[in-house]
Amino acid sequence: MNTIIKKADAENINIDVINEAGAIIKRGGLVAFPTETVYGLGANGMDEEAASKIYAAKGRPSDNPLILHISDIKMLDGIVSDVPEAAKVLMDKFWPGPMTLVFRKRKEVPYGTTGGLDTVAVRFPSHKVALDIISSSGVPIAAPSANTSGRPSPTKASHVIEDMDGKVDMIVDGGEVGIGIESTIIDVTGDVPMILRPGYITKGMVEELVGPVLVDKVVTAKTVEEIGGDYKPKAPGMKYRHYAPKAELTMFDGNIENVVEEINRLSKEASDSGKSVGIIATEETKDRYNFGKVVSIGTRKDEASIARGLYGILRDFDTMDVDVIYSETFYDDDLGQAIMNRLIKAAGYRIVNV
Ligand code: AMP
Ligand code: MG
Repeated sequence: MNTIIKKADAENINIDVINEAGAIIKRGGLVAFPTETVYGLGANGMDEEAASKIYAAKGRPSDNPLILHISDIKMLDGIVSDVPEAAKVLMDKFWPGPMTLVFRKRKEVPYGTTGGLDTVAVRFPSHKVALDIISSSGVPIAAPSANTSGRPSPTKASHVIEDMDGKVDMIVDGGEVGIGIESTIIDVTGDVPMILRPGYITKGMVEELVGPVLVDKVVTAKTVEEIGGDYKPKAPGMKYRHYAPKAELTMFDGNIENVVEEINRLSKEASDSGKSVGIIATEETKDRYNFGKVVSIGTRKDEASIARGLYGILRDFDTMDVDVIYSETFYDDDLGQAIMNRLIKAAGYRIVNV
């Protein structure tokens, strides 16, 4: 397939590009486009056959449900059967923005979009290019991240081109995204809201509005054992290994002095045995590593900068041809929880306590 690649500037919208993208979605095709979180791979979410093309292009397991993206609150009526009170409060505050809510679905939403579930995940993004493409298409757009399943999510168009060129009808290049990690997902179908995936909207921000919330144990688990063999995820997708660079990634947790020392020791060992080592460090520690390819992921004083750089760095290690990657860990609260959630999955739960 020949993939059309066109630029779209959120500040200066080219309506022809938007309408070309909207028309492709409307006729059942695939368009990758920027959102404020990561790039999405969009198709008509109300058309099972169109949605099935997303799974094929990504190589995504078909039981992993998609998020429907809307550009107007009124679109919600066509896809969800009930809007609980807590959801209204959250929508009021965080939409448009990086928050996804899981509702009970209307029968019009095909099971091919929801991975067979009776619930549907919905997001109202704030990125102007995304909003205009959704409006132009006239349908809710099902859009997971525009990467090959399992790889780090794309935060700029070149990442999308790497994974999707030749597999989708169009890639809309809107430059680098602002947030860099996927939306916070909150299930509002139960008595108490439950965070299924941490993101830019933190647990604290949610609790300030709706009181105590639950956090799915797949979010807080540091080991596969903690998740437990009998655990049934709310959505099948939560169990998959994700975001992974090609090289094996191991994280080191504990006092930062011990972490630096242990990473230095292992990096020397690996270098001595002819392996190429990548190290994920921070501005605070980057000058303290003596071996390997040291990459600073940002400063601990600004976790948003770490979130923004995370996926790009994981992809960069692929092109640097490293054999192993060692990483520091991050605080497990606020935005740090979202960062750790992605890194732990990228590491396949390989965490060493030092
Ligand atoms: P993404 O990979 O960013 O497209 O996000 C999709 C994820 O959203 C899935 O892997 C699930 O974790 C979650 N999700 C989507 N739909 C539902 C749903 N109906 N119920 C629970 N979680 C969902
Ligand atoms: Mg994804």
